[in-house]
Amino acid sequence: MNSPLDNCRQKIRSVIKNIQAYHVADARGLIKLDAMENPYHLSEGLIAKLQVRLSGAELNRYPDPSASSLRDKLREVMQVPQDRAIVLGNGSDELIQMLAMAVAERDADVCLMSFDPGFVMYRMIADFTGINYVGVSLNEDFSLDMESIRKAILESQPAIIFIAYPNNPSANCYNEKDIEEIITLAPGMVVLDEAYHPFAQTSFMSRLGDYDNLLVMRTVSKMGLAGLRLGLLCGHPDIITEIDKIRLPYNINVLTQLTAELVLDNAVELEQQATLIREQREVLLRQMDALDGLQVFPSQANFILFRVLDKNAGDVFESIKQSGVLIKNMKADSGLLSNCLRVTVGTPEENEAFVTALVKALAE
Ligand SMILES: *Cc1c(COP(=O)(O)O)cnc(C)c1O
Repeated sequence: MNSPLDNCRQKIRSVIKNIQAYHVADARGLIKLDAMENPYHLSEGLIAKLQVRLSGAELNRYPDPSASSLRDKLREVMQVPQDRAIVLGNGSDELIQMLAMAVAERDADVCLMSFDPGFVMYRMIADFTGINYVGVSLNEDFSLDMESIRKAILESQPAIIFIAYPNNPSANCYNEKDIEEIITLAPGMVVLDEAYHPFAQTSFMSRLGDYDNLLVMRTVSKMGLAGLRLGLLCGHPDIITEIDKIRLPYNINVLTQLTAELVLDNAVELEQQATLIREQREVLLRQMDALDGLQVFPSQANFILFRVLDKNAGDVFESIKQSGVLIKNMKADSGLLSNCLRVTVGTPEENEAFVTALVKALAE
């Protein structure tokens, strides 16, 4: 006879049991350059204002369910066109989940398309929601393989195509003309995931009005507010209205609404931090380019992907960790990410510690 626990396990869908849980590395005691976080804190002046604002927060009340005041602020700061609507998510990950839930149909062959290597949440959420994931392989230089994409769109008729712009983990922005062609060919929604917009400074936001099937997704995470969990999806009001029905009420909590609004009122501070990070990215790219034994890929984001050429990337990763710096091991033995590591751009001091650790690891 099955135990109650066995019975429970049996009820869980096999697609869920087969998923590898999203692994977050333990960074205690290490310089944390693994998760594309902004290394800077808010100014003392802004923290003081924040404390006053939060001391008035009504924690006994539910938040404004539509967070309309925060949405207005986001529209202004992110320059969302007036004729396009906005829905907020508890991080953009939640928006990806809402989009997938909106198209998942029982017993139907629904497809979510993206490009590999890409952002792992697209595939994971497709799995959660029982949608087929089609990942079209990128070219060697991480550009879009348009011939394969045209064929794949025709064959699998994706309900949604996710395009990370810039892409994670490769850090490049795809060719604009290629993206335009995909939007035109797509039989459904195309979501431009602009999580790294502060570092790329190129966007499809102003072109939302040109395409009714285009959605632009942003997040405050990589801007320096990863702890808040706040993302936004912008697009045609008729589409956003449907997505908004899936949103759980009160998904943006009181503290996030108050904090985000205040910080966005002082967006200049975050923009200055992004400028510093972009400058440091160029410094780091130059330093890494000068090292033998690495293939360093171009970056328009706040991180850099690089391949270790004559050593095992896992050994280099461990050695850097022994030196006190945590980066990301892409853990690929073959394929486009083979022997690749990814480092987030930190403060000048953190980057220096990383380069020193990298030089040491390559000499071992
Ligand atoms: C980090 C990242 C996100 C996650 O954003 P959250 O708002 O923190 O959930 C979304 N898309 C891409 C491509 C990312 O790299």
